[in-house]
Amino acid sequence: MKEPLIFDLSRNGRKGYSFSPLDIPGRPAEQLLPSRFLRKEPPALPEVPESEVVRHFVRLSNLNYHVDKNMYPLGSCTMKYNPKINDYTADLPGFAALHPMQPETTVQGALQMMYELSGMLSEIAGMADVTLQPAAGAHGELTGILLIKKYHEKLGRPRKKLLVVDSAHGTNPASAALGGYHTVSVSSNTLGRTDLEDLRSKLDDDVAALMLTNPNTVGLFETEIRTIAKMVHDNGSLLYMDGANMNALLGLTRPGDMGFDVVHYNLHKSFSAPHGGGGPGSGPVGVSERLVEFLPTPIVEKYEKNGKTGYRLNSARPDSIGRMLNFYGNFSVLVRAYTYIRMLGAEGLLRVSENAIINANYLLSRLLDHFALPYPKPVMHEFCLSGDRQKKAHNVRTLDIAKRLLDFGYHAPTVYFPLIVSEALMIEPTETETRETLDNFADALIAIAAEAENDPEKVLAAPVTTPVRRLDEAQASRQLNICCTL
Ligand SMILES: *Cc1c(COP(=O)(O)O)cnc(C)c1O
Repeated sequence: MKEPLIFDLSRNGRKGYSFSPLDIPGRPAEQLLPSRFLRKEPPALPEVPESEVVRHFVRLSNLNYHVDKNMYPLGSCTMKYNPKINDYTADLPGFAALHPMQPETTVQGALQMMYELSGMLSEIAGMADVTLQPAAGAHGELTGILLIKKYHEKLGRPRKKLLVVDSAHGTNPASAALGGYHTVSVSSNTLGRTDLEDLRSKLDDDVAALMLTNPNTVGLFETEIRTIAKMVHDNGSLLYMDGANMNALLGLTRPGDMGFDVVHYNLHKSFSAPHGGGGPGSGPVGVSERLVEFLPTPIVEKYEKNGKTGYRLNSARPDSIGRMLNFYGNFSVLVRAYTYIRMLGAEGLLRVSENAIINANYLLSRLLDHFALPYPKPVMHEFCLSGDRQKKAHNVRTLDIAKRLLDFGYHAPTVYFPLIVSEALMIEPTETETRETLDNFADALIAIAAEAENDPEKVLAAPVTTPVRRLDEAQASRQLNICCTL
């Protein structure tokens, strides 16, 4: 279906508004504004009645793919369903109508919510304290890296290198570079986990920290995490966890107990704030005892005075790395995460992770016979398949499979990531999908695998049902390169 531009729907004089006449006596509009601000010609705005404006935008929203429409199997991104009650609480006037410059005494409820959320996140990950300031996962990484840097500087032995495992999310090495570090890549082994020998060979006294994702981006738990933590700490280095995908661990185990010194969370993934399209997100950072003094300011504190409890913002922390964001973080995302955690409680959070893991393993079991699996199962909350079999036999690439899924009414999984898996198809069903939805999605992928074998042209021509057919990927990437060089 093609949707015309709103300008094409416009008809002269068919306007969708009616204003009262200007009622400042004796003052035509021309006199109210300095003449240099007045337009010569009225702006060429479309003239469309309200009913048609609403229908136009509803039709456009239907062309879009979103998690309220169907499953969104984007590995690593945790596109789970976001309960609507989160939006209700974030919209309460007591939260939504606050101004960030209001005096502390008038925002006690908001400060209490932040204080409690950071306490709950500390408990969930087993960390000593949590800052809510960072605006996204990558911003949390940068914050964590600056904390690590300050720690080594204060000890009087600044270090230059950060180790990052080769399966890591691209933001890890990017944040390391932003933090002024030289990145050294550590290999994965044949089981998809950190190669301890390679790690040992790279741990020298210039290594500030190791950045790890656990479970890692192929959905596997780092079973030797205690050994890794000991190796890293014995070297005087710190251990960073990319905790963007905490929904595999909630209530089951805690990064703090594994020996991590820093962890960032993605509230807009694991704690159910809508995301995609550029924001807003929230990437709080949890730290172990030795990094608390460096956390960004201001810190929300609780105090007792004359038998009454109050909350205040404390900026008097001499060793703090300073501010990471204006004001106090993306507040509405914090309200959503707070609501989500309070609605579920400890028991509910545990069920989240159990179901995320069961769903991933169930879906994987249905697909095992049809696609190559690069590393042995079982997996945690997501898994990574390879399209190698289809590519070798029929020259159908993962890209083609992803395009064909659009015809079946699904968003594509993450493709070609992580980089250690060739023709990677990375799938995260999340805990919010029913067995029927998982079965339907598996049926679609299995049907595509059969098409790749019997009618590869069909897959190569996909998508055929979308408003825009296949783009010229080669040209698109050339243009992208031009944009990046500019
Ligand atoms: C999403 C993600 C990030 C980055 O988070 P943003 O909020 O997009 O900056 C980092 N690491 C992993 C593993 C992720 O899945």
